[in-house]
Amino acid sequence: MAVFDCQTCGACCSYSSEWPRFSTEDDAQLDLIPTKYVAANESGMRCDGVRCSALTGEVGKVTACGIYEVRPDVCRACMPGDDDCLMARHAHRLPTL
Ligand code: SF4
Ligand code: SF4
Repeated sequence: MAVFDCQTCGACCSYSSEWPRFSTEDDAQLDLIPTKYVAANESGMRCDGVRCSALTGEVGKVTACGIYEVRPDVCRACMPGDDDCLMARHAHRLPTL
């Protein structure tokens, strides 16, 4: 399986406003996420269009998660090379092999 470098990608953080949703976190975890990055209805991360508001940099070049240490569980679950990763990279026309 190809292994991609997330720090030159960021595609999954800029794919769908439906993706960075809160799921299995407890309140203590969620309280660590700065409010400015949280959606108004508190269902997940606030997105600008399809892009998570915590993502910095340029997709496909240099990117970083601005809240990496406290990012939601769904973000921890997406692994380089898995199906979601490939779908997001494909959508951004980044190599998937
Ligand atoms: S799409 Fe894949 S390679 Fe890109 S940041 Fe997400 S997990 Fe990493
Ligand atoms: S919280 Fe971080 S890892 Fe999760 S979608 Fe936003 S930028 Fe990506």
